[in-house]
Amino acid sequence: IWALALPTVCHLDPVFGEVMDETAELLRRTFRTANRATLPVSATGSGGMDALVVNFVAPGDRVVVGVNGLFGERMADAMERAGAHVVRVDGEWGRAIPPERLIDAAADGLDAMFVVHGETSTGVCQPLDGLAEACRERDALLLVDCVTSLAGQPLDLDAAGVDAAFSGTQKCLNCPPGLAPFTAGERAIAKLRAREDRPRSWYFDLSLVLGYWDGESGRAYHHTAPINMVYALREALRIVQEEGLEARWERHARAHEALRAALAELGLERLAPDGEQLHPLLAVRVPEGVDEAAVRRRLLLEHHIEISGGLGPLAGRIWRIGVMGIGAAEEPQRRLVEALGTLLE
Ligand SMILES: *Cc1c(COP(=O)(O)O)cnc(C)c1O
Repeated sequence: IWALALPTVCHLDPVFGEVMDETAELLRRTFRTANRATLPVSATGSGGMDALVVNFVAPGDRVVVGVNGLFGERMADAMERAGAHVVRVDGEWGRAIPPERLIDAAADGLDAMFVVHGETSTGVCQPLDGLAEACRERDALLLVDCVTSLAGQPLDLDAAGVDAAFSGTQKCLNCPPGLAPFTAGERAIAKLRAREDRPRSWYFDLSLVLGYWDGESGRAYHHTAPINMVYALREALRIVQEEGLEARWERHARAHEALRAALAELGLERLAPDGEQLHPLLAVRVPEGVDEAAVRRRLLLEHHIEISGGLGPLAGRIWRIGVMGIGAAEEPQRRLVEALGTLLE
C-alpha cells in the first residue's frame, strides 16, 4: 500500500528508469529466466495474453492449443481472432493434458504451441515435459500462461524451454491487478523480427514497447506506464525475493495440502487427482444436494470469506478456493474450514 502511495514521477524521469530496470531484473528472477525482453505489460493478465498472441502468432500460423479449462478456451479464441489455424487438443476439465497428446498434435508441423501452466478454472497444473523439445525440433515456439502459477507453483521458465510467457500481478504475487509480467526469449524475438507483417496491435507491439522498457534502447516514449502500479509490483517482487522463491513455492504446497486435508474431513474431495494439482488454487467437488451458490453467499455475507464457484461444464459442481500469496497460510484457512463446517451442517 505504501509503495502505491509513493509520489508519481514522470514516466521518462531517470529515477523511474531505475525503477523499471530493477522491476525487470526482479521479474527475471521470479520467472527464472535470463531473457532480456522481460517487463510488465501495462494491462491485466488478459492483456499479457493478447500481447503474446499479436507478437508471436502471425495470420496463417498453425498453433497447437491445449484446452482443458476456461483459460485454454480463451486462448484458442484469441489465436483464432489473430488468424491462426488452431489445432485444439481438448482435455477433460479437471485433468492435465498428457504431454504426449500435445506432442502428437505437433507431428504434422506447427509454428507455436500454447498451454496454460496453472488452469485457475479447475485447479490443475499442466506438466510441460517434452513440449519444448517437440517445439524446437519443428522450429516452433512454446508459449505459456503462468498467471496463477508464477511465484506459487514450481516453475523454471528457462529450464522448461519456454519461449514466451505472461502472468498477472493479483494472483500469487499478491499485488493489486493492473500489470502483466511478460517475458520473451531470443527465439521468440527472432521470429518477431523476421515477420513480414506487423503485429496487429500498436499498443502491444513488443518492438515498440521494448523501445521504452529496454534501458539500452534509450527509453523512447511509447505509452505512459502506470507508474504507481510499477512501484507496487517492484515491492511485491522484493517481498518474493525476501521470502525466497523456493520457500514461497513450498509454502503454497504446504498450505494447499493442509487445506485439502481439513476439507476432506468435511467430506469435500479435490477435483484434481494427485500429481496434477495446482497449489495456488484448490478446487473441491460440491457434495450432492448442497446449494453451492447459497453456501458461497452465506460465507461472504456472514463470514466475510469469498470463494468461487465452478465455470463452464463445472458450474454448480465445484468450489474454487484461492491458496495464493498471503492466503496460503494457516489463519485464513482455519476460519474458512470452521465457517464451511458450520454452513454444511
Ligand atoms: C486470472 C487469469 C488470467 C487473466 O488475468 P486478468 O488479470 O483477469 O486479466 C489469465 N489466465 C489465468 C490462468 C488466470 O488465472
